[in-house]
Amino acid sequence: MTREAAALLSWVESLLADPAHARHPLHEALEALYRHHLEEKARLERLITISDSYQRYAREDHLSTRQRYDKIRRRQEKLARISDGYQQLMREHNLALERDSTHDPLTGLPNRRMIGIRLEEESRRASRHGQRYTLAMVDIDHFKRINDRHGHETGDRVLVAIAHVIRQELRNYDLCARWGGEEFLLLLTNTGIEEGRAIVDRLCQRLSRFPIVVGDMTLSVTASAGLSEHRAGEDPLAETLQRADRALLQAKRSGRNRSCIAPIPG
Ligand code: GH3
Ligand code: MG
Ligand code: MG
Repeated sequence: MTREAAALLSWVESLLADPAHARHPLHEALEALYRHHLEEKARLERLITISDSYQRYAREDHLSTRQRYDKIRRRQEKLARISDGYQQLMREHNLALERDSTHDPLTGLPNRRMIGIRLEEESRRASRHGQRYTLAMVDIDHFKRINDRHGHETGDRVLVAIAHVIRQELRNYDLCARWGGEEFLLLLTNTGIEEGRAIVDRLCQRLSRFPIVVGDMTLSVTASAGLSEHRAGEDPLAETLQRADRALLQAKRSGRNRSCIAPIPG
């Protein structure tokens, strides 16, 4: 209420309270008007109070809606992060599974399973497009002695070093798998037997000259190899590989540290 309004009210109150005006003809009307004003004033104050609380409620409601929205958004972001992380984990897990099922854990080279698949592919290519390939079975000479003299762990490290040399020596499109133990199977694509032999001989020479350092020891190895060229239509494992195995046996029997070529069956 303004100061003027308060002064007016107190003036009216004092006029009504003054006994000198009690019988004035307007006294009753002024008193009725005064009470009516008081009631209107009280109603207005109640309305203001209601309006104030409504506005406060609306403000709070807006705030809590906003807070709820933010909370839901944060939770969704968190869920999305968890889901992304989970998917990434699954992808890595699948990659690791695939790698484990196709690679040798010690040397990291492709394993039998993987080269088996590649052999099937190459054989189909050979039948369809007349592309040739050569297989070479490479076996480390007297590897047992390394284990016997220096222990299995050193033997493992020598195998890792051998795999490293083979990987370096081969062309990008060739494949070398750890066939088992100290045997490595080479798939030389688009390669005839003579060219294959030159590659394998160079590799064996490299191997025999490569100093393998394990701790304070420097070891060296030699290898023997048997080679065979795939003939279109034949079974890569039962026939081509069998011939390479027999050629390897011949290389061992002829004194090791050499390669032998399987004769073309006639
Ligand atoms: P050869 O010249 O006739 O091939 O003689 P070798 O001693 O290499 O052949 P043999 O087949 O008699 O022995 C192979 C050895 O390779 C025996 C085995 O303990 C060893 N070997 C096979 N796999 C592993 C491996 O993963 N780690 C180690 N350290 N040794 C292995
Ligand atoms: Mg062997
Ligand atoms: Mg051996």
